[in-house]
Amino acid sequence: MKDIFACKIINGNAMKEINEISTKELRHNWTKEELLEIYERPLLELVYEAATVHHTWHKANEVQLSTLLSVKTGGCPEDCSYCGQAARYHTDIQVQSLLSTATVLAHARQAKDNGASRFCMAAAWREVRDNRDFDRIIEMVKGVNEIGLEVCCTLGMLTEQQAIRLKEAGLHAYNHNLDTSEEYYEEIISTRKFDQRIGTINHARQAGLTVCSGGIIGLGETHADRMAMLRTLANMEQHPESVPINALARVKGTPLENNPKVALWDMVRMIATARIVMPASMVRLSAGRLEMTETEQAWCFMAGANSIFTGERETLLVTPNPSIVDDRIMLENLGLKPMKRTN
Ligand code: SF4
Repeated sequence: MKDIFACKIINGNAMKEINEISTKELRHNWTKEELLEIYERPLLELVYEAATVHHTWHKANEVQLSTLLSVKTGGCPEDCSYCGQAARYHTDIQVQSLLSTATVLAHARQAKDNGASRFCMAAAWREVRDNRDFDRIIEMVKGVNEIGLEVCCTLGMLTEQQAIRLKEAGLHAYNHNLDTSEEYYEEIISTRKFDQRIGTINHARQAGLTVCSGGIIGLGETHADRMAMLRTLANMEQHPESVPINALARVKGTPLENNPKVALWDMVRMIATARIVMPASMVRLSAGRLEMTETEQAWCFMAGANSIFTGERETLLVTPNPSIVDDRIMLENLGLKPMKRTN
C-alpha cells in the first residue's frame, strides 16, 4: 500500500502514526479517543485524509450499486424508535406479507438490468424462524444468485444453523446494523439487547457469510456514541465488508419523527471516519440520501462512500430513495461508474 501520509505532519506524532497505519494496514485496536479525534478534526483535513485512504484501497471512481427490496413489510413486533415498520407505531407504511418468489425474482432481474451488482432482501422480522417463510427466503436466495447478483439478506436475528442454510443457498452477505452505541442502545430499542446484535453478526461470520453492519445517526446520540458504534465495528476481528451509514429518515408516527434533520457535515464526518478506520470496507451512503442534493452526495463520495442503494422510487423501499434515473445522471455528472460484483 502507498505510504502517502508517512511524511505528512498533521497534528503531531500521534496523528502521523494513525495516518501511517490507516493507509497501510487494517487495525482492530482503535480507542474512543483516537476515533473522536479523527471525527472532530478540521473538516477539510478530515475529508482529504479519508479521500486519500479511499484512493489507496479502492478504485475511487467506482460505486457499488445495491438494490434493496422489502420482501416482507411492516407489522414488526420490535420497538426500534426510528422504524416505521414497527407494528406499535401508527405510520403510513402498508403491511405486506412475504412476497412471492416470482415477484422477488422479477425485481431482481430488473435491478440487474438497471446496473445493480448486489440485491438485498429485507424482511421486517424480529428473528428468523424455521418455518415455511424461511424456506421461501431460501428459494429466493437461490433464484437471485442464479440471476448473477450478489445476494444479501436482512431478516433480523438468526442462529448459526440458519446462517449456514442461507450460505448454502448462495447468500453472500448478511446485513445486521448495530444502529447505535452499546451505551445508547436501550434509549432506542427496548425489545432486544446490543449483545444480541453482536451474537447474530458472529453467527453470520461463523457460517462464512460476509457482514454488512453499520448504523444510524440523528437518533439523539452524542458524537461519543457515534464513535463508540464505529469502534465496535472497527475493532471486530474482521471488519464488516460493508458499513452502511444512515441518516435518520424521520418517519411520521415514530417516536423520532420530530428529531432535527441530520446536518450534512455530520454525515460527511461519519463517512470519512468510517473510511479511515475501516479502509478496506465498502462504506455505504444509505438512508437519508433523498434529502440530499447531488452536491451534498458528492461530498459523501469524496469522504470515502463507495456504495449506495438505488431503486425505483417508493416502490422497492419502505423509505423513499432517489430514482434510478436521478442516480444515473448523478453518477455521470460526478464521473463515477457502477462497480462489478465483488465475488
Ligand atoms: S427489527 Fe427491523 S423492521 Fe422491526 S422495528 Fe426494528 S428496524 Fe424495524
